[in-house]
Amino acid sequence: MLVPILELVFAGVVVALPVWWWTGLTQAVFAALLAVLVYAIVLIWKTHRIEQWLSQADLHSPVPWKGVWAEIAQRVQRLLRQRETQTNMAEQRLQYFLQAIQASPNGVTLLDAQGRIEWCNSTASSHLGMDVSRDLKQHIVHLVRDPVFAKYIAANDHTAEVVIDGRASSLTQTPKLSVQLHMYGEGQQLLLTRDITSVTLADAMRRDFVANVSHEIRTPLTVLAGFVETLQSIPLPPEEQQRYLHLMAVQADRMQSLVADLLTLSQLEGSLPPGLHEKVNLPDLMSDVAADAQALSSVLSGLEGEQGGLLHDLVFEPVPHWSLLGVRSELLSAITNLVSNAVRYTPPGGVIRVGWSRTAEGAIFSVSDSGPGIAPEHLPRLSERFYRVDRSRSRETGGTGLGLAIAKHVVQRHGGELRIQSQVGQGSTFMLVLPAARIELLSD
Ligand code: ADP
Repeated sequence: MLVPILELVFAGVVVALPVWWWTGLTQAVFAALLAVLVYAIVLIWKTHRIEQWLSQADLHSPVPWKGVWAEIAQRVQRLLRQRETQTNMAEQRLQYFLQAIQASPNGVTLLDAQGRIEWCNSTASSHLGMDVSRDLKQHIVHLVRDPVFAKYIAANDHTAEVVIDGRASSLTQTPKLSVQLHMYGEGQQLLLTRDITSVTLADAMRRDFVANVSHEIRTPLTVLAGFVETLQSIPLPPEEQQRYLHLMAVQADRMQSLVADLLTLSQLEGSLPPGLHEKVNLPDLMSDVAADAQALSSVLSGLEGEQGGLLHDLVFEPVPHWSLLGVRSELLSAITNLVSNAVRYTPPGGVIRVGWSRTAEGAIFSVSDSGPGIAPEHLPRLSERFYRVDRSRSRETGGTGLGLAIAKHVVQRHGGELRIQSQVGQGSTFMLVLPAARIELLSD
């Protein structure tokens, strides 16, 4: 500001001095005022030019004139450049911050002091069914209609989180969301949402599992306790005592099988998937399976009152000369479970066919029976723990309800899958499909 004023004064003095010398004081004052006026006009015009240049020109191009005014323009230009850099950096930091919140697996919604939506990440919009552009400035309670949520928002205490139903996409079940409100700034609110559907589901499954195990154990235990009490309190003839003891042994066996299957399942869940280093001799494995199947069929034959021999026509097709790369005990358990199911559920005289084949998918183990077959509504749930179609047949033959769950677990750990084909009255086929990478030709 000082420079232009000095310039004005200087212009007035320079013009006034010679005029005073030649003509007199009045003319000199008049000339000085005229000079100041002209110079002021020139200054205004220059200022206007600089202003226009600063508003239009590229902040990085050089100032197109020289002198004091160029210096002023350059200084202003430098300041504007600094401001521009700071603004860009702040904008970049904001973008990084928003990207980080967008990447969060949790939903983040920013609300103003009145509970209106100011911003939300995409997780929050899918959790609560919001559309970021459409619902901006909308009250959150108008969009999330769950009464639990409305009550939570209206309350003063938000220290605990609440669980509400999220927005379900048409294909999935309604998700469960954990929601919590946090205050920040000047009355603004941060709404955090977390999808806890799988945790809730796992919790329910764990509760079901514990209830099922307790139920499975309680039944034989009650029977055992009853027999013990009878033996303790009533003097029975020796043959009757033997009969009771036999029935007690059956219940104890039942509990033992259940515990053994539970341990197998927990070992399968707790260990790493099998590698490719252990070679299982398939003919050897299948001869163990065949021996077990024959033993079971003959035990059942005895139970059915038949005198010796097998209850079924057991057909074991020739076993390929392969090694399977996997864990022997697991594969034996999976195959034995499928074959023993066929033996247990097929009525006397039925045919059970066991064999291996090779397709483009890999190695397929299959066991087909001419048993009762299974209705289609049961098939998807058959490998769930403790799911049974024929409960009484399962009990009578010592079933635990865990055989198919074990078989499925084992084959999946080996990179394959369990397949079931069945029709009521037409028998069933259970298959284990193992990837081709797990078969090798036997070297000897
Ligand atoms: P369980 O110990 O009761 O046999 P599984 O898990 O092995 O339990 O089998 C689940 C249910 O599937 C059985 O209870 C039975 O109802 C049905 N099932 C299994 N295999 C067969 C089969 N070969 N034929 C008919 N039903 C079968």
